[in-house]
Amino acid sequence: MPNVLVQLERFVMSNYNWCHNPDCHTIQTQSRVRGSGNNKVLRTRKIKVYNPDDPHVWDFFCNNNCLFSFLRKFAREVANLNPTTKPKETPIKVTTHTYDDTYPSYYEGKKYKTITKLQNSQE
Ligand SMILES: [Zn+2]
Repeated sequence: MPNVLVQLERFVMSNYNWCHNPDCHTIQTQSRVRGSGNNKVLRTRKIKVYNPDDPHVWDFFCNNNCLFSFLRKFAREVANLNPTTKPKETPIKVTTHTYDDTYPSYYEGKKYKTITKLQNSQE
């Protein structure tokens, strides 16, 4: 029976990540305080993963501050995950339209443009 409980605990624990900001544990908030008496620490925040099959950035960072701290520290490594050495282009068609009388009179006769993506766009 205890083996089942160990397996259950592993399953439950697998639905959490620790915040990936290497400095998360240095930020002074009550939510990071653990321990008691004179043995208190600031601990990296634990993040609940709601859908492991559909990973989201917020499964790895506890808030915007931690996400951007991580990106500041590891910007080059993150950029190297998908090196971009030249611009990509998406073929489009630009169409000019004229507002008709179904719009408020302020717009009547004025022009606006719409952009439509054509097939063949690069991934
Ligand atoms: Zn964090």
